[in-house]
Amino acid sequence: MSEAPHLTFDLDTPGVSTGHLVVPKGADCEALSLPVFSCNRGEGPSLLITGGNHGNELQGPILARRLVKWLPEAQRCGRIIIVPEINPLAVQAWTRNTPIDGKNLNRVFPGRSDGSVSERIADAISRLLLPVVDTVLDLHSFGPTWDCAPSIISHPIADIDQMTKTVSISKAFKLPVTLLWEHNETDGMFDTLVHRQGKTFICTEFGGGVVSAEALTIYEAGVRNGLIALGLVKGKAEYPTFRQQKTGQTLETTSSDQLKSPSPGIFEPRCSVMDEVEQGDVVGVLHPMGSLSAASIDIRAQSKSTVFAIRSAMYVQGNEEVAILARPLAR
Ligand SMILES: [Zn+2]
Repeated sequence: MSEAPHLTFDLDTPGVSTGHLVVPKGADCEALSLPVFSCNRGEGPSLLITGGNHGNELQGPILARRLVKWLPEAQRCGRIIIVPEINPLAVQAWTRNTPIDGKNLNRVFPGRSDGSVSERIADAISRLLLPVVDTVLDLHSFGPTWDCAPSIISHPIADIDQMTKTVSISKAFKLPVTLLWEHNETDGMFDTLVHRQGKTFICTEFGGGVVSAEALTIYEAGVRNGLIALGLVKGKAEYPTFRQQKTGQTLETTSSDQLKSPSPGIFEPRCSVMDEVEQGDVVGVLHPMGSLSAASIDIRAQSKSTVFAIRSAMYVQGNEEVAILARPLAR
């Protein structure tokens, strides 16, 4: 019988504490010790910030470490808990899924105490950290083969009050895009679990494969805005500058806004994120590799849209997503 998941320190200790979240060993690997930061300033909102859910999205872990440096000075009330890497195995391997069990941590919540390592990580977070917070901020960055606008993404929530609250706090981050993303594969996602508990879940998507200093500045400013809006940090929120602009847009995307490759080939992007496209505009071009005389294939926008995310140049299989377009939120 292995030990139960536990924290090496008491989260209720006033002020700043650091320690570890211990995920017990199982049949597939030894116990994991995830570094945890806690700043407890008494009454007020309570927030869990997580990074490294997907191991090849490193903006989150970097940003989480920046927050650990300045939060002790800036936080005026409430509770903030930070786990910079909730999936250290995937971060070390630079993979989306956990290398040991091949699972996507963001599809196994609430996890299982007797499951594989991804499920045990989810179980430890669900049991020990989630109960003591009312809001979760999960720092993602879309994955290394994409370029995407700095954004906050939410899936539609059936409860209208919860949806309104989520969109409102998301917009307060003042990132270039607040996106409502309709898709059906939400089973086992961290946000699905948090929503089910009536809590607020905020998911940032920070830019894709390139971790640049300029982008990190935008993300840090966005998260600081969010912490101000939540009432945890004092200060004045400001739009960070992205593509020479200081604005934010609220958009939505559904499966019909996703452009897919008609066949295998090298994808060449012809647009940048946040570009406005009209119906019929070429968003990207696909180059089949078999013959130099084979014509390249234009991939066109189906309607007037904003380019939310686009593949960096890469070889794609047939029917793979190459661009995600979005339109102003109608509801
Ligand atoms: Zn992710």
